[in-house]
Parts: sequence; structure tokens; C-alpha cells
Amino acid sequence: MVGSLGNLYDSIENLSNTYMQPNQSKDAVLNPRIANFGAHVPLLLPNEDGSVDRKFYRCASYSSGHVTITDDPNALCPHCHQRMNTVMTFVAGNGAAKVAGEGGGFVKGVVTYMVMDDLVVKPMSTISSITMLNQFNVKEVGVLEEKVVSLEMKEGLMLLKASLQCKNVLTSVFLS
Ligand SMILES: [Zn+2]
Repeated sequence: MVGSLGNLYDSIENLSNTYMQPNQSKDAVLNPRIANFGAHVPLLLPNEDGSVDRKFYRCASYSSGHVTITDDPNALCPHCHQRMNTVMTFVAGNGAAKVAGEGGGFVKGVVTYMVMDDLVVKPMSTISSITMLNQFNVKEVGVLEEKVVSLEMKEGLMLLKASLQCKNVLTSVFLS
């Protein structure tokens, strides 16, 4: 596979289930599915705030039990045969405010993870850090440099692009 996405995928596949939050599974990341909401929901890219421009409609008697929705404002309600043209707001799962938990995401927050330049991700420990310094032949810790980076939508898109093209993703996005 060109780029580094394959490494990222393998890292998740190799990660022990014990790192996952109790309500999450690796399968949700490895084999993402669109929620089966009614018959079908086409894949739509979310807006910057995570919402999706997707409209659903109901009839005027929704509150009295006509809990049927449609994506076509000309459809007739199967209960009262009135037009289902009252707009409902669709909140995509990834854009919705969530019940407070561990701050969202898939893995437990107490663990620190190490992300390599080629997007290999591993839980980090003191031993693994020393092993890595050895592996990269770092003799003098004084040569190491810490860099704090900001990660917003722009960087996210750059990371995605670089991950499809090269093996030095972090270097190309944050150090060039
Ligand atoms: Zn109705």
C-alpha cells in the first residue's frame, strides 16, 4: 500500500482490545459502516462542526404517534396520508454532543500512545521509549527536540493527504 494508512490500519488491528473504551470495538474503526437509519443514508462528508447536511421529513402528526420519517418531502405518511414535509434535523452520531465519558474517541485516555512518522501507533512505556532511542541510534538525549503542534482541520487534511502519499507523514506536515 502506498503511503502510511496501511501502517495505521495494522496498528489498530494489532492493538489489544484492553486499550479500547468499554463501549467501543476495533471493528468499528477497521470496518466502518454507515448507521442503518431507515432504508439507507448515502455517505455524506460532515461539515466542519461534524453536522451533516441531510434533511428528513415527517408529517404534522408526528407527536401523536406517526413516527415515520422520509428523505422525500413529497412522500405521504402511511398513517394519515398527509404530506411528510415538516423538516427534522438529522444529527450525525459523530457530530452530536455525547454523554460525558472519557472524552470520546475509541481508546482509553489513561494510556499514552506513540505515533511514528509512518503512522505506526503503539502504546508507550518507558521501556518502549528507550528501545526506540536505541533503534534510531540516539546516543545523546541532548539532541532530541520537543515540538508541540496544533492540530486543527487544516492539519487534519494535510495529515490525510500525506498519509496517502508518503512514509514520513508527521515530518512532512509539521516540520516542513
Ligand atoms: Zn401522519
